[in-house]
Amino acid sequence: PTAAPPDELREVLQEYWGYDSFRPLQAEAMNCVMSGRDSLVVLPTGGGKSLCYQAPALAMPGVAVVVSPLISLMKDQVDALRANGAPAAFINSSLSPEERRTVTQQVRSGEIKLLYAAPERIVRDHTLSFLRSVGVSFVAIDEAHCVSTWGHDFRPEYTELGKLKQALPGVAIHAYTATAADRVQQDIARGLSLESPELLIGSFDRPNLVYRVRRASRKLQQIQEVIERHRGDSGIVYCISRNEVESVAAELKSAGVRAAPYHAGMSDVARGRNQEGFLGDRIDVIVATVAFGMGIDKPNVRFVIHAGMPKSLEAYVQESGRAGRDGLESECLLLYKGSDGVLWRRMIEEGEPAAQEGAVRSLEEMMRFTTSVGCRHRAIVEYFGQMFERDNCGACDFCLGELSFADDALVNSQKIISCVARLQQRFGASHTAKVLAGSKDQNVTRFNHTELSTYGILKHEHGTTIRDWIEQLVGQGHLEKVGEYGVLQITTTGREVLRGETTPQLLAPVKRVKESRTRTEA
Ligand code: ADP
Ligand code: ZN
Repeated sequence: PTAAPPDELREVLQEYWGYDSFRPLQAEAMNCVMSGRDSLVVLPTGGGKSLCYQAPALAMPGVAVVVSPLISLMKDQVDALRANGAPAAFINSSLSPEERRTVTQQVRSGEIKLLYAAPERIVRDHTLSFLRSVGVSFVAIDEAHCVSTWGHDFRPEYTELGKLKQALPGVAIHAYTATAADRVQQDIARGLSLESPELLIGSFDRPNLVYRVRRASRKLQQIQEVIERHRGDSGIVYCISRNEVESVAAELKSAGVRAAPYHAGMSDVARGRNQEGFLGDRIDVIVATVAFGMGIDKPNVRFVIHAGMPKSLEAYVQESGRAGRDGLESECLLLYKGSDGVLWRRMIEEGEPAAQEGAVRSLEEMMRFTTSVGCRHRAIVEYFGQMFERDNCGACDFCLGELSFADDALVNSQKIISCVARLQQRFGASHTAKVLAGSKDQNVTRFNHTELSTYGILKHEHGTTIRDWIEQLVGQGHLEKVGEYGVLQITTTGREVLRGETTPQLLAPVKRVKESRTRTEA
């Protein structure tokens, strides 16, 4: 649907939000809602998904039902709508029976135009019969990827939502997500029983974000360099663990940065205070776990640093996407180390069993991204299944020429690939790296791999450098990881490398400097 949205939508937009234009695909998405055709709308974080259903809800007869996964998100949205004068309410377990009766009454009388609810509540029989009796304009499902075990945020309650199509006959369902993976889209359409939905997929490129990916070698210093470049500006530092949040926040504070921590282990009061301080520009840098940011809409965040690798590229794009919402140039630095993957794997194994396969795959994609050598914008856009048209994005460490490459890439690649050949393409990356490094690891000796001609031929290199190079060869398609154990196989172009017909790009080894704090011990 490319037709211009009806005037009444423009009026609603102007009256309640004071906006006079639409963001890309918003008009199309609103037209779907107005015409009653099911839709699946995929827009990146900050793309303006909420408006796609909020504005039509105000323009259409009846009440729109919005399904949202978190009570806090619901409350934020309803508060924001009410502040704009839009009649919205939520119904969830935080309400007293009396408050619930009031909301029900207001919905019945037609006062409320947007009713937010959690998935598990919406599918209850008495909720459904209530909704049938009041005349629902449409159902909007926020964070719709939660229905997919293949996504990065599976929520079992979402799988019940498939019932809605039958339980509310004639009511259109519209799904919204920032996750663009094909498989997730299919899961959403099927899981929600969408009927020939209109598929609207926005662009995932954020040209104003400058991406840099580095191995964490002296983490605190790397973080401070970015903060220094943006003195006095707002930024977010994401850490994987609460402990790291605490220690990084403390280090930054003692270095004179207006920083504060944020994680789920803190009291509501302390967390709220730090969040408010950040939103009100009294705190420059918020150091947080991924618990921070859902529903946060601060336009002038100038940098987002990941002190550890996120669990998926979806999560990375979402979190780094909190930078530069105002469209101005902003910086995203991702620091990673090998053990981040191990940490995530452990968390995945402790989590929802149904979601493990998808989560592990997403994690592997993430690791591939961090170790790849190439344009970061291209890698992200292509991951989300879209074409990237530009040759040089001018906004990532690769395209800006900031990466330094190893001098003897061809010879080192040949050493690695021949080692894979000597190991008869039956071992994984970590064993191969040990053989190349000349390790006395018991598996290496047990298999007699100390006798191989390639044993120890990279012994002058650091172990993590060898691992990085293997991943870089995988990323460039010269090696392939196969099966559950990631056994390394040589590809057609890998053989070209052996013959000297193709030269891969290998990054120069990272110089290792100890954190200044520990330097005095030497
Ligand atoms: P998403 O849910 O896709 O992450 P939001 O709906 O939270 O994005 O919107 C992000 C920000 O963009 C919000 O501050 C919102 O008010 C603003 N926004 C959305 N649509 C428009 C528009 N048409 N014009 C101006 N600002 C908009
Ligand atoms: Zn680039």
